[in-house]
Amino acid sequence: MALSIFKCIYCNKEYDIQEIRYRCECGDLLEVIHDLSQSIPNPNDWKKSLDGQMADIAFRRYQAVLFPSLPEDKLITLFEGDTPLYDVTHSIPRFKSIKLKHEGLNPTLSFKDRGMVAGVSWANHLGCENVICASTGDTSAAMAAYAAAAPNMKGIVLLPKGKISPEQLAQSISFGALTIGIETDFDGCMNLVQELTQKHKIYLLNSMNPVRIEGQKAIGIETLHQLNWQVPDWFVIPVGNAGNISALGKGLRELYELGIIDKLPRLAGIQTEGASPLFESFKNGYTKLVPQKAKPTKASAIQIGDPVSYKKAIRELKHFDGVVEAVSEKELM
Ligand SMILES: [Zn+2]
Repeated sequence: MALSIFKCIYCNKEYDIQEIRYRCECGDLLEVIHDLSQSIPNPNDWKKSLDGQMADIAFRRYQAVLFPSLPEDKLITLFEGDTPLYDVTHSIPRFKSIKLKHEGLNPTLSFKDRGMVAGVSWANHLGCENVICASTGDTSAAMAAYAAAAPNMKGIVLLPKGKISPEQLAQSISFGALTIGIETDFDGCMNLVQELTQKHKIYLLNSMNPVRIEGQKAIGIETLHQLNWQVPDWFVIPVGNAGNISALGKGLRELYELGIIDKLPRLAGIQTEGASPLFESFKNGYTKLVPQKAKPTKASAIQIGDPVSYKKAIRELKHFDGVVEAVSEKELM
């Protein structure tokens, strides 16, 4: 097979990775599948080589499993990744060991940078001069920053007018993205983004783009490397649009299939009580997703009532014997 392909998670139809495509013809989500036997022919040697590459950026160090099809000279990086893993066992002594991964220490202050390395670099490889996203915060900051770092690339951000704080606007504007407020909500902006990317050669970088998931796999892989490949019992992760838990699961599965790790952790997805569609679905055995009108929460990044990556997330949760929990605002703080 080719080194990487797009494959539909529902009907299994395959597409050329070089095609600009975000969904299957059947309408369902695509994922990127790599032939890891080509990029990592000897997993043991690959694993041993990683310790000698700590001076390199995380994406490049793990690229053979993250996104081997990306040509080296197309990489757009802001030196994201290698975020610290804090041992906080002393603060929560009822656990034998508990560590926190601080993804806020990425260049634009969120894990979104992990996905944008892959997404913007791939747009750069495809020769797209314009990239776009609808966003209410972190995604637009990350996309604008990476687009600004690429040669000959313009970022376009569509935002619901009047609903964005100055802090959220600041990064997108200061990185030079064309930032447009539209008299609608997030979903209205998202519809416009889809229409624009169908009509023009503008590359879509919202989370339905499966390439971003490949970059986000680095969080779990890097964590295990920091733990000297000792697999913890649990990975606990917040869930909004469900892309991050999908990426975490996919990356860990790939490491397991390569024999880099010899057991799988369990996954716990955490939502807030006011935005808990995945939690409700978990309680009914994942039989269906009932979209919600998400209520405001201090964890504004996961205030999402209809998660785009729902189907990918439940596949990973089932594979990893996962659980989903919803917490109150008090518990959150
Ligand atoms: Zn399909």
